[in-house]
Amino acid sequence: MAEGIPKEVLMNTTLINKLAEVAKDAALLHGVLMRANESPNSSELVTYAPLTLFPTPVPKAIFLQAKAVQTLYNTLVDKISQDPDFLQDSLASTIAVDDFTARLFKIHQQILQEGRSQSIVLGLNRSDYMLDQREDGSTSLKQIEINTISASFGGLASHMHNVHRHTLKVAGRLGESQRILDNNPAVGLAHGIAKAWELYGSDRAVVMFLVETKQQNIFDQRFIENELWKRNIPTLRKRFEDVSQSGKLDKDKKLFVDGQEVALVYFRNGYMPQHYTSEQTWEARLMIERSLAVKCPDIGTHLAGTKKVQQVLAKSGVLERFFPDQPQNVEQLRATFAGLYNLDMGPEGDKTVEMALATPDRFVLKPQREGGGNNIYGEEICEVLHRVKGSSERTAYILMDKIHPKPMQNYLLRRNSPLAISSCLSELGFFGVYVRHGKDMVMNDCVGHLLRTKSSEHSDGGVNAGVAVLDNPLLY
Ligand code: ADP
Ligand code: MG
Repeated sequence: MAEGIPKEVLMNTTLINKLAEVAKDAALLHGVLMRANESPNSSELVTYAPLTLFPTPVPKAIFLQAKAVQTLYNTLVDKISQDPDFLQDSLASTIAVDDFTARLFKIHQQILQEGRSQSIVLGLNRSDYMLDQREDGSTSLKQIEINTISASFGGLASHMHNVHRHTLKVAGRLGESQRILDNNPAVGLAHGIAKAWELYGSDRAVVMFLVETKQQNIFDQRFIENELWKRNIPTLRKRFEDVSQSGKLDKDKKLFVDGQEVALVYFRNGYMPQHYTSEQTWEARLMIERSLAVKCPDIGTHLAGTKKVQQVLAKSGVLERFFPDQPQNVEQLRATFAGLYNLDMGPEGDKTVEMALATPDRFVLKPQREGGGNNIYGEEICEVLHRVKGSSERTAYILMDKIHPKPMQNYLLRRNSPLAISSCLSELGFFGVYVRHGKDMVMNDCVGHLLRTKSSEHSDGGVNAGVAVLDNPLLY
């Protein structure tokens, strides 16, 4: 199966057309859904979430490597979030030029000054990788990034296995169907939220999902909400505007929104500058951070997930700071790092500029942004660097080695797009969950995976950005 679905199947147009209908219907039946583009705030019109027709082969050893390193990533993120000096040093050059990161950092500083009001920490993250195809034919796992805020698709990913299992059976490929892995990140993510909610210790207090105004991907979140309701944990969906209008802190810093006490705020919004539409939005974020509610993530954990921090971690000696006397952990994490380079002012940054200008196709230039579609590739790297190389503006970016996964043939099923075979690249993510209470880690788990696949014509962009689609790994 290393070569994927056989050519005679991929080229059998009659069969492919039939299977595409089967796969879409299976997605609808199993709840792999999104609201339609034209009505993002109503469930009157829904469609299947974009998906591949077939699963994508992934080497078992690599899959297990990524799964095994997840709890170390959880620990690492948590340690970084608790290390103000490291955050300050790492982000200094970035916040000098990047207003968004600077604003987040300012909240972080204010919280440190006031003292953190809550000792319960909940981390729900997703570490994403691509499988780099080396010249000698071997494959190596390379991290693209870790998402410490609003890591999505754990809900829909919990049902994707049903879709491909069924489609493969109808395609007469029972053996492969049986090899599709179980996966239920929704339960694992909810388990973490439930644990933190219990520790907060008030039956009446709710879990507040802080959501975007445009809620096209609501079903992904509903799966987690419903897991919480199964455990009799009440949830609410609120926007920053709602928090501005009806949120307040009482004398003990308990957060109340619409009169209800909030035990935990789960951010599914707030990771892009566009999410902060006004001063009031920033004030709402600050109010949440100052409150007694458990924040997922808190501001330190949010900052720990920035691309600048990722780049600093790749410098020699830095991981050792977080894992002193644990060389095996350091080695396990470092093995997943791609080459990352800073653009700070000075000789090191100058060298990075020179290298990128000489061979732009070897790299990806990344600003401090999340959500897909922000990275810079190829000739555009030269254009941007020529413009910014002489000023501190360049420190708003990091440079990263470009990963080259092996392209696989597949069909991407997406509403209103014609059925055509594509050369595809995949990105594998693992969901991490941890809960810390003061000094005690009371939960630290890897709770499932996500495979996203896109046409190789696109160099960037996730499922929400309309580029990648949901997939399943087929281990070999
Ligand atoms: P975002 O926070 O916007 O999701 P990412 O770092 O995940 O930023 O990059 C977005 C997309 O760009 C990834 O999903 C991947 O498809 C592509 N990409 C990012 N880094 C690399 C890389 N080093 N090599 C190849 N592709 C990359
Ligand atoms: Mg990403």
